[in-house]
Amino acid sequence: MKSQHKALALISGGLDSLLAAKVIQRQGIHVEGINFFTGFCVEGHTHAIRKKDGAKPKRNNALWVAEQLGIRLHIVDIVDEYKDVVFNPQYGYGANLNPCLDCKIFMLKKAHAWIDAHGFDFVITGEVVGQRPKSQRKDTMPIVQQDSGIGDRLLRPLSARNLPPTLPEREGWVDREALHGFSGRSRKPQMQLAAEFGFEDYAQPAGGCCFLTDPNYSVKLKDLWASRGERRYELDDIMLLKVGRHFRPAPHFKVIVAREEGEARFLSGYRKQYPNLSMKSHGGPFALLDGTVGEDDIELAARIIGRYSQGRDADTVELEFATPQGETRRLCVSPFASDDIPADWLL
Ligand code: SF4
Repeated sequence: MKSQHKALALISGGLDSLLAAKVIQRQGIHVEGINFFTGFCVEGHTHAIRKKDGAKPKRNNALWVAEQLGIRLHIVDIVDEYKDVVFNPQYGYGANLNPCLDCKIFMLKKAHAWIDAHGFDFVITGEVVGQRPKSQRKDTMPIVQQDSGIGDRLLRPLSARNLPPTLPEREGWVDREALHGFSGRSRKPQMQLAAEFGFEDYAQPAGGCCFLTDPNYSVKLKDLWASRGERRYELDDIMLLKVGRHFRPAPHFKVIVAREEGEARFLSGYRKQYPNLSMKSHGGPFALLDGTVGEDDIELAARIIGRYSQGRDADTVELEFATPQGETRRLCVSPFASDDIPADWLL
């Protein structure tokens, strides 16, 4: 009896990886998914945190894709290993701090090792030729195959007919004619295919699969490194960069001000790690202070928070300052007028 071939699909949670896996699944291949957790994933994190985004689905899109396909999903934490990709990308960054080419190489190297260890035959991705400026160009796609070591055991079902035949096609494990020849940035072919498969309610692509493609996020990450004098981060750091307004009034400290209730609740989860300020006299945001703060810094932070509180027009507002050790005290300050906050404090 002919044994069933097995493919591992890189699942980001977006439409392309969903479709790529479905195309191969439809050819009778056993498909399982793998999702790499870098900490930078967009994956609805901000929707999950922000109260105002309450109508948007709070779901893990990679799991949702697995559920749609009826496949097993392996979620692999690569937070620590991935740091080297972010710090030292051999092929440099894209428009922001996104090391897309190195990232793809790294993930495919991991996927390659995984299929070898688990007796799978090949790897599939939802990549489309010409869709992304750097990592999905016809001339860079072979670099990914070569540097990751996966070679022609990588099949891109949505673009396969624009690319040289891979091992699964040559061996007849999959029918090349039933694969696709999508190219370019248009999403129409994917949306049409999604409709054919009956997929609805899939995640809308938001410019990239991770926050490293976001210009504002990249500014905040660069600032974090500059403040530390080295390129270093922990998972909590990169999660916090996704939340709140970040002000850096001086090199030695930063103020993270919640923009709304959901963010305030999320940030208050860090009150045992960071000194913090909360409004007492008026409705207003919760804020964390990151750095070693003196009396003047606390007052200045309180004035910023006052500006974003319901007491912004009052002469003074009252706040509570708390340390991670639980010591608290009250302070009264006059809120900054919005023009008084230098624009370059806001990251
Ligand atoms: S957008 Fe982020 S996750 Fe996607 S390839 Fe680029 S660096 Fe990697």
